[in-house]
Amino acid sequence: MSSILETFDCVRCGLSVSTRGPSDIRRNHCPSCLYSLHDCGARMAPISIAVLRNGDWMVIHRCTGCAELTSNPICGDDNQLILMRMAVRPLAQPRSLWSRSVTSDSFRCAGCRLDVPLAAPGTAHRNHCPTCLTSRHLDVRPGDRRADCGGRMTPLTISVRSDGEWQIIHHCLSCGTLSANRIAGDDNALSLLRLAVRPLPALRTGALLAL
Ligand SMILES: [Zn+2]
Ligand SMILES: [Zn+2]
Ligand SMILES: [Zn+2]
Ligand SMILES: [Zn+2]
Repeated sequence: MSSILETFDCVRCGLSVSTRGPSDIRRNHCPSCLYSLHDCGARMAPISIAVLRNGDWMVIHRCTGCAELTSNPICGDDNQLILMRMAVRPLAQPRSLWSRSVTSDSFRCAGCRLDVPLAAPGTAHRNHCPTCLTSRHLDVRPGDRRADCGGRMTPLTISVRSDGEWQIIHHCLSCGTLSANRIAGDDNALSLLRLAVRPLPALRTGALLAL
């Protein structure tokens, strides 16, 4: 590779962005607005922050065209205000997480072995365990049962849509697919909150401060 810097124009704000960030990390999103460009040609909007076990922060992007989700490492010069806002957004969304549960058909949770009724308040297709929030990779689109994988999906982070609805971002341990799923009315509030606040302790351990 030559030392000539490659650049791309941000699809949202038009900023001319170098494809190499600080520390020579290859970047795919704009450091100013955090948008990126999907392979399908549509913009990808940043919707949430996830913290990996090693403490690294990832930006979860959702394609505004085809709705695919991706996760990408943050860069040292990414806009910290936007990162913070996404990390704390779930906290600003008070919401009643409790309501009655309905019983009918059930499935066995791959995470904690609980027998989970399929019907749930607030969603047509329950696909995750209300206690540990673990799911299975069965759907391509919510409820279609068309995925062949069947892998175990762990909850990665929470995203809050513009209408205030909470979604859990699940990550498939078998194939790496990400998916966004509505929370159900009887999902464990403590598990949800733990997921929502996970980026905050990482702030202090220096994921951003070290930059
Ligand atoms: Zn931009
Ligand atoms: Zn797309
Ligand atoms: Zn479970
Ligand atoms: Zn999978």
